[in-house]
Amino acid sequence: MKNYILTPGPTPIPDFVREALSRPIIHHRTPQFQQILKEAMEGLKYIFQTKETVYIISSSGTGAMEAAVANVASPGDKVIVVEGGKFGERWREIAASYGMEVISIQVPWGQAVAPEEIESALKANPEAKAIFITHCETSTGIDTDVESIAKITSASDTLLVVDAISSMGVSPLLMDEWGVDVVVSGSQKGLMLPPGLAFIALSKRAWKWVEASKSGRYYLDLRKYRKAGEKPDTPYTSAVSLIVALREVVNYYKSNGIENMWNRYRRMAEATRAGVKAMGLELFATAPSNGVTAVKVPDGIDGVKFVKTMRDEYGVTMAGGQAQLKGKIFRMAHMGWIEEFDIIVGLSCIEVVLKKMGYKVKDGAIAAAEAVLFA
Ligand SMILES: *Cc1c(COP(=O)(O)O)cnc(C)c1O
Repeated sequence: MKNYILTPGPTPIPDFVREALSRPIIHHRTPQFQQILKEAMEGLKYIFQTKETVYIISSSGTGAMEAAVANVASPGDKVIVVEGGKFGERWREIAASYGMEVISIQVPWGQAVAPEEIESALKANPEAKAIFITHCETSTGIDTDVESIAKITSASDTLLVVDAISSMGVSPLLMDEWGVDVVVSGSQKGLMLPPGLAFIALSKRAWKWVEASKSGRYYLDLRKYRKAGEKPDTPYTSAVSLIVALREVVNYYKSNGIENMWNRYRRMAEATRAGVKAMGLELFATAPSNGVTAVKVPDGIDGVKFVKTMRDEYGVTMAGGQAQLKGKIFRMAHMGWIEEFDIIVGLSCIEVVLKKMGYKVKDGAIAAAEAVLFA
């Protein structure tokens, strides 16, 4: 059976990445590798839309989240987190584990935080070192208005830290122009690589906090990454094969143009939304992201069984709901190495399995998606 991965990480990887991954290992402290690392790091700046260096950590995305927390604040410091899903919760858990005092802005799952809520939290806690938000809250499919939030934090002494693990390369995020202080991401979502790399970039004012931080840290001490990055090098053994492949991905973005990439994902997201709505289904997120579409499981359908049937009987893997959303939503991703006809496959599988499970699917989903994809 042919397998289609339409999950919000890991995502499918292109042949040019598989080819790069299969090359012989070269030693990481050689001019040959340093040239590759240099090109990969330069390319990441383009994808992050920043002039600052983007550092590469060998870890999953959470490693960069932890690096952000540990380096911008100290135990006992006050920090603010926006919690509107699984990954917002993770910010709180990491900060609490470093002994920080966490002020939590609770947002109902499936809704986006209003910039006004950020404004009032900052007014009430002007001494907060940083505010941690999630660009695409992958667990709910929400897209956060980072640009408006950055306007507010730029005018304050509080840093803005953005988890862009599932939005990088998919949705516009203009780190420098918007005034975002710290951006973290990972390899296995939008960036069409296997899991294993995390990325982090910091503004000049964020580096001041890094120098002042009293948190205990060793592997994730960003001062070591900064020093090594000058060469460029990584402080510990580089994930050589993944970085060789990363260079191919950044070149792919450069040759296509990032705006074109963003537009393509936007169009695929719009087509997915048009398709599921045409079937008679409802979207879960009130401000849906361009990387993943969360859809409410219709009444009377077992959501866990639905996702399992698509995967085990038809080879189409989507994600179910996590935690309180288990069985209540399913998530079809359109990030990474996903193209127009993958959207058609995903929508068709949803129709086929829902019909099989006894749901009366309305006609016209494929036509609605095609009208967006191929207009
Ligand atoms: C996937 C994801 C993470 C976690 O990344 P790992 O690579 O699993 O550590 C964090 N935040 C968001 C928004 C994600 O989508």
